[in-house]
Amino acid sequence: MICSYCYKTGTTPKHDVSHWWNDSEGSVYVCSDDCKDKLKGLLKDGKWMTHRPERIFGRKDPDYVSPNFGAVK
Ligand SMILES: [Zn+2]
Repeated sequence: MICSYCYKTGTTPKHDVSHWWNDSEGSVYVCSDDCKDKLKGLLKDGKWMTHRPERIFGRKDPDYVSPNFGAVK
């Protein structure tokens, strides 16, 4: 399995956290107490979905307008 926080592969599931996303049991795991706490922190802060790695989402021009999708902000 893959830990949903640290993304290490081949880890042993320690906690089933599927219910945090209303997923069926057995679909989302973390590998340790530490990962469980940190993932819960991201959820609590509302950062889980909005955390955007700068390497992928960083823009030099904040007013960039996509030709296909309009203003991207
Ligand atoms: Zn982990």
